[in-house]
Amino acid sequence: MPRNLLKFVNTEMRMPEKREAEARRRDFREIFADFDPERAKEQAGRCSQCGVPFCQVHCPLHNNIPDWLMLTAEGRLEEAYEIAAATNNMPEVCGRICPQDRLCEGNCVIEKGFRSVTIGGIEKYITETAFNRGWVKPPRPPRELGSSVGIVGAGPGGLAAAEELRRRGYQLDVYDRYDRVGGLLVYGIPNFKLEKSVVERRARLLEEGGIRFHLNCQVGSDLSLAELRARHDAVLIACGVYTARDVAAPGSGLANIVQALDYLTTSNRTGLGDRVPRFEDGTLNAAGKHVVVVGGGDTAMDCVRTAVRQGAKSVKCLYRRNRINMPGSQREVLHAEEEGVEFVWLSAPEAFLGEGKVGGVRAVRMRLGVADTSGRQSPQAIEGSHFTVPADLVIKALGFDPEDVPTLFKAPELELTRWGTIKSDFHTMMTNLDGVFAAGDIVRGASLVVWAIRDGRDAAQSIHRFLKAKTAAQAAVAAE
Ligand SMILES: Cc1cc2nc3c(=O)[nH]c(=O)nc-3n(C[C@H](O)[C@H](O)[C@H](O)COP(=O)(O)OP(=O)(O)OC[C@H]3O[C@@H](n4cnc5c(N)ncnc54)[C@H](O)[C@@H]3O)c2cc1C
Ligand code: SF4
Repeated sequence: MPRNLLKFVNTEMRMPEKREAEARRRDFREIFADFDPERAKEQAGRCSQCGVPFCQVHCPLHNNIPDWLMLTAEGRLEEAYEIAAATNNMPEVCGRICPQDRLCEGNCVIEKGFRSVTIGGIEKYITETAFNRGWVKPPRPPRELGSSVGIVGAGPGGLAAAEELRRRGYQLDVYDRYDRVGGLLVYGIPNFKLEKSVVERRARLLEEGGIRFHLNCQVGSDLSLAELRARHDAVLIACGVYTARDVAAPGSGLANIVQALDYLTTSNRTGLGDRVPRFEDGTLNAAGKHVVVVGGGDTAMDCVRTAVRQGAKSVKCLYRRNRINMPGSQREVLHAEEEGVEFVWLSAPEAFLGEGKVGGVRAVRMRLGVADTSGRQSPQAIEGSHFTVPADLVIKALGFDPEDVPTLFKAPELELTRWGTIKSDFHTMMTNLDGVFAAGDIVRGASLVVWAIRDGRDAAQSIHRFLKAKTAAQAAVAAE
């Protein structure tokens, strides 16, 4: 074991520098700086190089974390990057936005008593160093293959699959209804978690590697699934989930009650320099308003923190469970609290009040009852515990369900699960349609970027096997 490892006993866990909340509240820049080289070495050296690395087990990509920590501690950054990139198509993104407290870092064995290694921060540092030193290369294959693959969706799932297939030499066309590459990385997740230049840099690299992007192209209206199948040897559907869940409460039709993704997409668009009329007329702008966000997931956290930055007068988050039972990352809650957000735990909206437009939310206090079949305690309203919070803007952030893909894609024969996600074979990721695969949120339901990347990589493997078999079968027929 090199002498610069196992330092967790004497070296404290340090995150990269975090900007002061007062400064963060005034802009949309990322809140963490990069590690400097000495700090990265020092923090990587805290790794205990344990025999069974639970960080790796609990990383959806099974990243070889102990190895790249060891190489970073030794200053061998190019090798560290090679290892990090071997299992992850976007380590610079995951290092920034994975909920590490629930994944790799949450399962670090030194977490008990010594606080985990800062794995995400080091993953980001290694990859930013690699970009700065020109080690990150476009996916240029050693030889071109004749088969082509069409991918619906330029989110992380589609992009990971596209890169993996392009590296093998396939011809790649990615279709997206948005006007930019990145899916929710661009139009969902705000800048203060992931600056858009990071996504643009990755997209440029893929384009340089020969992947063709067809933007503003909605599969269903501009092109049917049948046309895509005729055009390509295999098709991957990685279109994400976009139907927002709603609150069924009186008054939910009042003006100034908006959906989270409309609000966040608008904020991201204005940050990118686009003109959005509903922002300019104030509908999707929190400036000077009392804002209430309903929900407790990552999307709700992004809404409250965006509202703070837009200059809201007050920002409250109503969530029906308590802090430890919320689905959002605990780190994000802490950041939001530091930035001035008030969490009203164990509370649910009962009615939206106002004349024409919303003026307040009548809420009810909840208690957690017995656990249901999923093991989660179900919230129950406490009778007579109503209270009202003032609100000029209410943002509903209750999660997402899939769109009706068979209807949208004009492919009624495409099979779905009972949750409306696309049904695919567990091992091959192929749908019930020959040569049509599916990956990411549209298969597993709203999830995480790192899982979409994992699915994209697995789907690429499977598509490669399928196309190899298809080419071999065609060659055999031709030889007869
Ligand atoms: C607000 C918000 C914050 C989040 N924060 C985090 C976070 O901090 N960390 C994390 O890990 N995860 C986070 N997530 C979840 C994460 O963004 C998703 O799990 C991930 O992006 C899913 O990737 P995907 O490729 O499956 O789909 P998407 O990223 O949704 O990409 C799908 C793409 O398909 C395109 N598309 C859809 N239909 C069509 C069509 N008919 N024709 C052409 N194109 C189409 C869409 O335009 C989109 O570009 C967040 C999600 C949201 C909404
Ligand atoms: S990809 Fe995510 S879970 Fe895996 S090591 Fe990186 S930050 Fe941790």
